[in-house]
Amino acid sequence: MATELQVAARALYDDALIWDDHSGFGPDPSVDLNKLSIWKDAGINYLSIDVGYDRMDWRDTVKSLAAFRRWIKASDGYELVGTVDEIEAARRAGKMACTFDLEGMNALDGSVDMVEFYYDLGVRQMLFAYNKNNAAGGGCHDEDTGLTTFGREVVAEMNRVGMVIDCSHCAYTTSMEAMELSSAPTIFSHSNARALRDHERNITDDQAKACAATGGVIGVVSLDLFMTDGEATEEILADHIDHYVNLVGAEHVGIGLDYAWDDDANDDGGNELAETIAKNRDYWPARQYPDRPVRFLPPDCLPRLTEILLERQYAENDVRAILGGNFMRVARQVWT
Ligand SMILES: [Zn+2]
Repeated sequence: MATELQVAARALYDDALIWDDHSGFGPDPSVDLNKLSIWKDAGINYLSIDVGYDRMDWRDTVKSLAAFRRWIKASDGYELVGTVDEIEAARRAGKMACTFDLEGMNALDGSVDMVEFYYDLGVRQMLFAYNKNNAAGGGCHDEDTGLTTFGREVVAEMNRVGMVIDCSHCAYTTSMEAMELSSAPTIFSHSNARALRDHERNITDDQAKACAATGGVIGVVSLDLFMTDGEATEEILADHIDHYVNLVGAEHVGIGLDYAWDDDANDDGGNELAETIAKNRDYWPARQYPDRPVRFLPPDCLPRLTEILLERQYAENDVRAILGGNFMRVARQVWT
């Protein structure tokens, strides 16, 4: 029988607006988007869907964006939104709201003009460099360079257009300079705490504090390697939340699971993401990514996470804020 706390957690989860700030499946026109039901059935009300990252040619990013837009617009149960009011309306209509995000500015192909182009097509957040340095700035597994002149121009344009500046995957100096330069709140859409798990994809307390100082939010990520060197659990995800809450306050913490289903049809014990990693060591260096399958906590981990936060004496309002209210606040401030 469910305990009183479990009943309360479920009621809170069902009543709260649940926001997942980043999907991790491959941005490819051939992806089976029927799998978005994994998020919808888990009770997620809003998902930011990745449509491109730096390994991709910008034309392939545009093709993914076109395919994903077409699928969502033609499908019951999903709504392509542009405003927070539209997210709330979609929820009332029983639909999962979606916008898009970009992991790296190779998608701009060197042109600041592309920011508004993507915004108009539904992209609401973008990060600078995916693990490896590019024309805009530094990636977290590469030499720690700052923003380039182009990167600075993009910050100004994102501020003007109303696209959220995301510092996940970036090098320390690039992230710190971007947060300093931005006139709007900035986020780490999916970055765990380096203090708990020493991985270059995770962020330092300095970075988390700088993000909070902009009014921004840090999303915790469910990929096992960024949580622990053992098996990923909801308790460990909650530990990363605890760390950030103690450091910067509950109003600056959110969820960016980065979930990808396992597409590997072979029974070889591997998985597709691990294979991509093994073939592209310039983006995922071997010193940081051991040769083994990558696992995630799926979106339906969130009801259990809600229980854990209540068990740890979190106030209900703080749990609601972490599950979605905080990222929604940033969207309301930044999206135009
Ligand atoms: Zn990512």
